[in-house]
Amino acid sequence: MENYIVSARKYRPANFGQVVGQNFLTQTLKNAIQSGKLAHAFLFCGPRGVGKTTCARIFAKTINCLSPTDAMEACGQCESCRAFDEGRSFTIHELDAASNNGVDEIRALIEQVQVPPQIGKYKVFIIDEVHMLSSSAFNAFLKTLEEPPAHAIFILATTEKHKILPTILSRCQTYDFKRMEVESIVAHLRGVAKAENITVEDQALSVIAQKADGGMRDALSIFDQVASFSGGNITYAQTIAHLNVLDSEYFFRVVEQVVEQNIPGLMLTLNDILQRGFDAQHFVGGLAAHLRSLLVASNEQTLMLIEASDAERKRYAEQAKRVNAKFLYQAIKLCSDCDLNYRMSSNKRLLVEITLIEVAQALTSGDAAAQKVRTALRPIFKRAVQAQSSATSSVAKPTTATVQANQLPQQRVIQPPTPIAKPTAEKTGGPAMGVPHTFSLKRPQNQSAAMSSATTMGNYAQLSAPTAEVAGMELAESFTKEVLGYNWRRFLNSLPKEHTATASRLKNIIPEIGDNHAIIINLDGEYVSQCFEQIRHEALDYLKLNLKNTKLHFVANILELKKSPLALTQREQWALLLKKNPMAAELKEMFKLELV
Ligand SMILES: [Zn+2]
Repeated sequence: MENYIVSARKYRPANFGQVVGQNFLTQTLKNAIQSGKLAHAFLFCGPRGVGKTTCARIFAKTINCLSPTDAMEACGQCESCRAFDEGRSFTIHELDAASNNGVDEIRALIEQVQVPPQIGKYKVFIIDEVHMLSSSAFNAFLKTLEEPPAHAIFILATTEKHKILPTILSRCQTYDFKRMEVESIVAHLRGVAKAENITVEDQALSVIAQKADGGMRDALSIFDQVASFSGGNITYAQTIAHLNVLDSEYFFRVVEQVVEQNIPGLMLTLNDILQRGFDAQHFVGGLAAHLRSLLVASNEQTLMLIEASDAERKRYAEQAKRVNAKFLYQAIKLCSDCDLNYRMSSNKRLLVEITLIEVAQALTSGDAAAQKVRTALRPIFKRAVQAQSSATSSVAKPTTATVQANQLPQQRVIQPPTPIAKPTAEKTGGPAMGVPHTFSLKRPQNQSAAMSSATTMGNYAQLSAPTAEVAGMELAESFTKEVLGYNWRRFLNSLPKEHTATASRLKNIIPEIGDNHAIIINLDGEYVSQCFEQIRHEALDYLKLNLKNTKLHFVANILELKKSPLALTQREQWALLLKKNPMAAELKEMFKLELV
């Protein structure tokens, strides 16, 4: 163990030819060296672990080599190359700006810049994570970067190009390093495994490469971990267990179960995953990625975008044939919604389960969720119109208590067939004027509380018949205010476009939990109340289904608008003044005053 060197160091490329996955870039650098036209400053950008520092070192070694090969590689034999390999070369200086970002470190470096190299032509200064330099350090450095001595070459490396000041960017030749492809990483790891006498399964290397997310250094260090864990025989099963990677097998199974509409199977798969200690959000993210792969695999041309072996690609392509693109879009959307709301949800498992069911339903009904609300919303207006005619007849002869209770809400629903007309009327008249008018006609104000509960009773009576979704089951699960609020917003978001205005009005409302499965909705004024009435039935159906509680009912409270003097228009103020003192009219006449 005393001679153990981590693979990332042991197999660090020693020349351009060994650099993995950056062929275009290394070729450009070699061409620059060959032509002898070297810039004084280079900026190497790219994610971590893709070979920026390694390339900088190889570059420094090659430009100082006394007899480079025809392919523009360092010879490895000359004095300069040997000094390099033994780590005693004074022609290369490295500064890690992440830990030495002060002005003192930069000054020390600038002093070094002035001294010409003993061997070779150039002195190379590599500043890693250059975006971390403090602003004073940056300023001190800028002068040197503008007028460097002929023998100095700067290589600035950064993972965050956008943080580099334009003054620096404009002085550097920029090289963008790519994330490495899974295939190149796998090929390299295979070579390392062979050299280390480790047997590996290709699928395991693929998992390691994916986990490394395009960085070779990370890939090699993960490889080392797995190798020591598995005692020289890296298998797929061990790798996913050690790396806590969710087996792609699960996702293939989930989609299979969606195709079969096997909801119990889906619940069991989720349970299995959770039992293995995986986070449900991790699963949802993985499922979204899998669905995305299926989407990509459904087209021959984009199939190459899947970062996996050919055998795996084929498998994706086969499963992609079993679902359609529309379902995939929708399922990905559902997963991403779930992911977004995951942190807020207090019953995370339920959220994921509902998402899985919704995904399964999306396959059978195409545009299921949106379609459901759209078709469900239309009848509301019909119902309202029907109510209008039936209400007039039943006013004369109320037969049962239920009908009586129903009349009141219906009368209020009657108005919205042209919901646009209301707000404009209110806008011109001002809320303080508009509201009392409609109010006084509809109902005495002191009865508002009684009426709200009557409303609730009436609607509840209508809806106590089981909806299609809950299919006769009596459910009464409890939930928190957060889950309620989440489902409320989710319902509003699912409303079709023509109800966007209604939805945005209602989004400000925070539904509360009342006694006996009541959901308390506090409505801020008559208009909001009308908005609410438009979606009331659908909202209740939705909440009953999603909160697994068939006993839910709404209790709507209409809060009276405060008559604040600020809300009065000039005309209203004038009316008020006249009421208080009719003599004001004479004054107005006398001085020929006008209202503006
Ligand atoms: Zn050499």
